[in-house]
Amino acid sequence: MAGIAICPGSFDPVTYGHLDIIQRGAKVFDEVIVAVLNNSSKNPLFTVEERVELLKESTKDLPNVSVDWFEGLMIDFAKKKKVNAVLRGLRAISDYEYELQLALTNKKLDENIETFFMPTNSHYSFLSSSIVKEISKYHGSVSEMVPEPVERALKEKYLSPRAE
Ligand code: ADP
Repeated sequence: MAGIAICPGSFDPVTYGHLDIIQRGAKVFDEVIVAVLNNSSKNPLFTVEERVELLKESTKDLPNVSVDWFEGLMIDFAKKKKVNAVLRGLRAISDYEYELQLALTNKKLDENIETFFMPTNSHYSFLSSSIVKEISKYHGSVSEMVPEPVERALKEKYLSPRAE
């Protein structure tokens, strides 16, 4: 019984690091729901709609992957979707402390929620959405870090005078 897993995150924007976790998860679980967190306090570069669109474009060749968004508690969204597996990627030991805290909190809130950690592909261990944004801001190339539509969207954002 593999079941359905939810893969939650900010995805501001999606990188090859995220996609690696999603692709590998899709081989293990029957279905993967990528869930974009609409968290206004994080002040994202991309709107939730833009982040969902970029994820849909980037996962369109994966038939058992779908993309959705949520706000509020992840476990409430998971319950609504009748999902009890959460898939998270781990890049470094430094990710572990926060991820463990998150997993234990979710378990406290709902004991049926099981978190699965997948270690990053070593190729992407340095990669984060923040690094991609930083490089794009100064017009460096991110073609090895994000799919083409994401690169294009980043260029558009940083051409506009409103983006910081
Ligand atoms: P959050 O804001 O919740 O950390 P992110 O969008 O940054 O959301 O990340 C979502 C998930 O993807 C997290 O589990 C994170 O650890 C994982 N992740 C991010 N970048 C990478 C990467 N380069 N390799 C593996 N996992 C990653």
